[in-house]
Amino acid sequence: MGLYNAVETIVSNMYEEFQKSYELKCECEQCKEDILALVLNRIPPKYTSSDKGQLFIKSLYLNPQLQSDVMSELMRAALIVEHNQNHASDKVKQH
Ligand SMILES: [Zn+2]
Repeated sequence: MGLYNAVETIVSNMYEEFQKSYELKCECEQCKEDILALVLNRIPPKYTSSDKGQLFIKSLYLNPQLQSDVMSELMRAALIVEHNQNHASDKVKQH
């Protein structure tokens, strides 16, 4: 199956949760990717090459402490992106 960064899946799943509790200024794909990139650059990747490894890594993220770390990184990244939107402005006029 090749190499796979399990943190990427965890962060993008948690982004969905984050979106429900936090009102993002802009929900376009570009802003979402900017937020995910900022978070992923700050959280060490956990690479795996097997399904079993992937499950193990996901189980690590059931830890409430790790979850709250990811949540606070999401919050931080969302604030940065809100103030530095770099997407095409014709898409969203209200920036
Ligand atoms: Zn946007």
